[in-house]
Amino acid sequence: MAGILVRGGQIVSDGRCFRGDVLLAGATIAAVGANLAAEAGGATIVDASGCQVFPGGVDPHVHMALETPAGVSADDFASGSRAALAGGTTTIIDFVTPRRHESLTAALAVRREAALAAVCDYGLHMSVTAWSDRTLSELEECCRSGGIGSVKAYLAYKETIGLDDGEFLALLDAARQLNFLTLVHAESGDMISYLQRRLLESGKTSAAGHPLSRPPDVEGDAVSRALLMARLAGVPLYVVHVSTRQGIDAVAAARRLGQGAIAETCPQYLLLDEDRYQGDVAAAALHVMSPPLRQREHQAALWEALAAGVAQAIGSDHCPFSLDDKQRHAADDFTRVPGGTGGVEYRLPLLFTFGVKAGRISLPRFVDLVSSRPAKLFGLFPRKGTLRPGSDADLVVWDPEKEWTVSASDQWQRGAPTVYAGLELRGAPRLVFSRGEAVCAEGRVEAREGRGAFLDRGPGRGSDGRAG
Ligand SMILES: [Zn+2]
Repeated sequence: MAGILVRGGQIVSDGRCFRGDVLLAGATIAAVGANLAAEAGGATIVDASGCQVFPGGVDPHVHMALETPAGVSADDFASGSRAALAGGTTTIIDFVTPRRHESLTAALAVRREAALAAVCDYGLHMSVTAWSDRTLSELEECCRSGGIGSVKAYLAYKETIGLDDGEFLALLDAARQLNFLTLVHAESGDMISYLQRRLLESGKTSAAGHPLSRPPDVEGDAVSRALLMARLAGVPLYVVHVSTRQGIDAVAAARRLGQGAIAETCPQYLLLDEDRYQGDVAAAALHVMSPPLRQREHQAALWEALAAGVAQAIGSDHCPFSLDDKQRHAADDFTRVPGGTGGVEYRLPLLFTFGVKAGRISLPRFVDLVSSRPAKLFGLFPRKGTLRPGSDADLVVWDPEKEWTVSASDQWQRGAPTVYAGLELRGAPRLVFSRGEAVCAEGRVEAREGRGAFLDRGPGRGSDGRAG
């Protein structure tokens, strides 16, 4: 095999930056070094001078083709994974969300089928939406032979998929027995239901009511209690989409006690604020997501947490819906607006622009947050998340000087216009390789439907987040 030599870029991997070459042989990386011209033989040369070269992004939190009471999300696995590649993300981890009392193994099989269309590699987190006598044995089967190494619980959405405290404790005990990592959506569901009812009854029915129904303390309370229960059970906990100072402070406090407590946050909580719910209700509805956007003071706390290693991963929580689905109940009932926005395509450029270029985080920290750390936490490292011999040849040749403006007219994701439209960004992928195949060049994705591989993660392979 002649291979591909990515030559003369600034390589960023494993906490280091140096000028050098990466040699790809088929689907894997053959060598990384200062000058590989001698080893490269007849390899095709890719000139990476002026660019950074780092491992492809690993987005630990996406929802393709998600069925909700308010409709199915707009991206399927094919369109959503194309959007991922366009933004330099070569691995996504989505969720199995069984209906209450549906068999977990049956739900996993259905989700595997839906995911076959993916054009990038993917893994799945299981979700537990109720607890019964069967749940432990089904989880064991999902972990032993289903490629599942992580399981999510919702403390919100009590009417549909959320768990009560007893069920959540049962899940945490199962995590200790089976050695999977527990993820939690930490918002206190009972408080939200009460506040929603009160707002609707008092005539505050429009999308502007959404953030009022989920104030910051509702997240802070749930994060604290979820961590307390994880401490009782003696297991680490990964808190998805932390959006508030209260939430991040609770994670920091648990880490000071030596607990394996990991916070994920998302670009929308770092960059957009609650003002988006004011004014035109149709525009406000595009920003309905849970947790909601917050006042600006929370953003500073999240950025500090990223720099300090308290927040260890950036997920997009990608979940766009069609414009119709988002706006149908914008004025008359915000609780019926499907929650979520698209972001898998913009995660890297947003964090690069507002993190690295703005001087808030270093370049190696950026690569850690968007790729290496999620790969480590979720049992994909060193296959993903690093440029090392033997790792999958998933890499991004990144032009750090490219200036562009996000525009809904060029988005790859489907559904309503991106909430990031109009932001001026620096940095974009010039070339993206997925298992050695050039799947995106200058923003154009060319990747065969179904080429993505399912990543068998199994339990016990990930880290518990205590290091770094
Ligand atoms: Zn989510």
